[in-house]
Amino acid sequence: MRVQFWGARGSIAKPGPSTTRYGGNTSCIEIRSARGTLIIVDCGTGGHALSEKLMSAGAKGLRGHILISHTHWDHIQGIPFFAPLFVPGNEWDIYGPKGLGQSLREALAGQMQYTYFPVTLDQCDAKIRYHDLVEGTFDIDEIKVSTQYLNHTALTLGYRLEADGVAVVYACDHEPHSRMLGCGHGEITGQDLRHAEFVNCADLLIHDAQYTAEEYPAKVGWGHSSVEYAVKLGQYAKVKRVALTHHDPLRDDDAIDRLLARIRAKLRENASSLDVFAAVEGQVVEVAQSPETGPTPRAGEFQAEMPIEPALAESSVLLRIADRKMAAAFSEIIRAEGIHVELFSDTDEARTLIANDRPWLAILEHDPPRIDGMEACRAIREQENDQEQLPVVMIAAQEDQASGAAAAGVTDWLIKPFTDAYARTKIRAWVLRTACQSMREAIPEDEERGLARPSVHVQQRRRAGVRARESCPMPQKGTEKRRSPEDVISADKSALLWMYCREIAPFETPIFSNKVGELIARATRSPSENARAISAKLGH
Ligand SMILES: [Zn+2]
Ligand SMILES: [Zn+2]
Repeated sequence: MRVQFWGARGSIAKPGPSTTRYGGNTSCIEIRSARGTLIIVDCGTGGHALSEKLMSAGAKGLRGHILISHTHWDHIQGIPFFAPLFVPGNEWDIYGPKGLGQSLREALAGQMQYTYFPVTLDQCDAKIRYHDLVEGTFDIDEIKVSTQYLNHTALTLGYRLEADGVAVVYACDHEPHSRMLGCGHGEITGQDLRHAEFVNCADLLIHDAQYTAEEYPAKVGWGHSSVEYAVKLGQYAKVKRVALTHHDPLRDDDAIDRLLARIRAKLRENASSLDVFAAVEGQVVEVAQSPETGPTPRAGEFQAEMPIEPALAESSVLLRIADRKMAAAFSEIIRAEGIHVELFSDTDEARTLIANDRPWLAILEHDPPRIDGMEACRAIREQENDQEQLPVVMIAAQEDQASGAAAAGVTDWLIKPFTDAYARTKIRAWVLRTACQSMREAIPEDEERGLARPSVHVQQRRRAGVRARESCPMPQKGTEKRRSPEDVISADKSALLWMYCREIAPFETPIFSNKVGELIARATRSPSENARAISAKLGH
């Protein structure tokens, strides 16, 4: 694979004399497979120079794919200026994380509204297909793409690309879950271990390295990594080369040189074979298969384009927070995502809610002696129907893994202080993961039979049917065996109905989405569930 950096700056473009060597343009990477498949990862302001190159090479009849990590400005500002999108006859597929309530297309169209830009997204003359992704895998020609949520202030996907016998991973913007790791200390465990598994044995890891370990304490919760963490991760995950990127706009060329020299000296001291470099705008990296090791094959897979709306329609979150102000803020955040909130104050109430509502996520506060989140977590885990299934996010003042958190069954942490955006993103990621797990279990085993010569999209779904029977590559606590056989039948119908609706109406709008979701929920509910839903609507 051939990788070229067209933008390596983070957060905001920073042109000027102090950034001429590493470059001032924001994230954009061009990746070409040996067979010539074109993938662009993120399209920040660096996308403009790439656009010029493609146009000067004759952009007619161009076919390409754009993977968007998230829709923060520094990752999408090149799109309105990406000329190949405006050339008739070109075909582009744009991929990005599926949101709750807003499609990728709508999010991208937002920055091209009349107030911000003179041309709308609809006026692009190329044929553009939009793909809303969750965690999973899909294929772009011969390239296998895997996605995984990163830890950021907006829902963000990391991308792992495997082809030509090598693996290239892009992980921007990402903050380690453990603050100790951000400061350059501590062990890779819990959710950080999951991230390490995603980048495992990559031939090239392109990783967020916006801050240094010294700077990090003042930047906690901003959603970015320190250089020291990116290097530690590379060593731990047996990566061959790490490209440090998303350079801080305040870091000039000389400062990046000094940083790199310091890191390399330390690696030499430790006799590490890891090759670390700082990404330079315009730089080309040829990623060739090494004789010793190829990319690690990943176990079970889930189709990243699986429509999960039917599952999302039923989502609810359990909440136990002592601080009233925080509880109100959380309720508001969760409701804004269109998710039902259930507050509980004691374990008996929790048991009843779990039995009746089968929530998708529990958020517990742990601040003893005022409130014991660990006790509540243990009570949830003791539920007969739980079996470590429900994801439990613990809100705490500090990482408390040592004091029995793992034994209590805590899935993830929200360490104070955190912003609303950070909490909201974490809730989104867990709700979407649980919805995926629910759909994974709902795929009928024989779905792939009886679909003769399907379209590309249907082919992807057929593969999903096969993959759905396999185990998750990185299973999450709290997501297995959630449904009774009755529900599986109901959700099977939902998935199929949703698929057919998408086939006849490929352009989703929130109204279309909600309406179809509602119709499917109604059509697939059992009579008793329907009666319950109606009485709930009537306020009984
Ligand atoms: Zn960014
Ligand atoms: Zn960002």
